[in-house]
Amino acid sequence: MALERTLSIIKPDAVAKNVVGQILSRFEGAGLKIVATKLTQLSRGEAEKFYGVHAARPFFKDLVDFMISGPVVVSVLEGEGAIAKNRDLMGATDPKKAEKGTIRADFADSIDANAVHGSDAAETAAVEIAFFFPEAHIYSR
Ligand code: AMP
Repeated sequence: MALERTLSIIKPDAVAKNVVGQILSRFEGAGLKIVATKLTQLSRGEAEKFYGVHAARPFFKDLVDFMISGPVVVSVLEGEGAIAKNRDLMGATDPKKAEKGTIRADFADSIDANAVHGSDAAETAAVEIAFFFPEAHIYSR
């Protein structure tokens, strides 16, 4: 397995529930390192750009409205197979379908308010990480 980086977003629902620490703990418990992190609130323009790939989908407006509804915690996670590992930890996009013990099964309420985002592939991870963090603000160790 290769050493990878992936972008994680703890979405407004999970920040509002005050479970940021519990979610970050799961990443660390699985051997992922938090090499960059910040609490921020996305503007509509930023959210539309970040989710640009979904612009034509029927859920786009609701997704953007939700993502700007409160602060989010954006992190870069680093580790062996970090992209797949994070996706395993998150569980299925729809929390009703997420396996027991996953972040979405434990903390998410709906497909929009689904607690976390994680990059789906190496190429998207690189683009998503650069969207939020300059390389100089990522602390690999
Ligand atoms: P991603 O697939 O990670 O780029 O994120 C798309 C996000 O859109 C998901 O995490 C969901 O929160 C949201 N979403 C809402 N409805 C749907 C849907 N029908 N299919 C996929 N994602 C959806």
